[in-house]
Amino acid sequence: MRIGVLALQGAVTEHIASIEKTGAQGLPIKRVEELDGVDGLIIPGGESTTIGKLMRKYGFIEAIRAFADQGKPIFGTCAGMIVLAKRIAGDEAGHLELMDITVARNAFGRQRESFECDLEIKGIADPVRAVFIRAPLIEEVGPDIEVLTLYKDEIVTARQGHLLACSFHPELTDDYRLHQYFADMVEDSMTANL
Ligand code: GLN
Repeated sequence: MRIGVLALQGAVTEHIASIEKTGAQGLPIKRVEELDGVDGLIIPGGESTTIGKLMRKYGFIEAIRAFADQGKPIFGTCAGMIVLAKRIAGDEAGHLELMDITVARNAFGRQRESFECDLEIKGIADPVRAVFIRAPLIEEVGPDIEVLTLYKDEIVTARQGHLLACSFHPELTDDYRLHQYFADMVEDSMTANL
């Protein structure tokens, strides 16, 4: 099983290391053609405006929408979650507009720009250590969204079928259970597509 990490900006090598801990192969994706060789895709954190611009420049918007249309799973973390969202709070336009959520950028305010905490994630047995860096949160969800984590009453992890999104950086700790959760989604989609 091969999982790609969109390598336009952000924490790519860390995601690849976490993917490899699950036993899957992790590959950086720099050109749209490379999407053909992977069964799932992670869009990493970074700066969503920059990632969105680079995605437009290199043809990734259409290519990743087509990838999702084939039922292949996508996992957006932090800025990657913003890029996946149908709506961004304020008047900013969306990027991929795939997942039926409204996200608010930099939602934790100056005082809490970066912090760590333990989170209960539905489907994972024990709490997961989460690193938040100028993180977004999910303000609104559509009817098909399954909320997987609340942090202080705010939604910070959600799933819609083969799409997964979280506000934090699961690649910055040794705990790879959220990557394992995503690898299981990819495996399920491969059996479903046989
Ligand atoms: N603040 C960034 C944005 O709005 C996201 C930060 C991150 O990915 N760590 O795009």
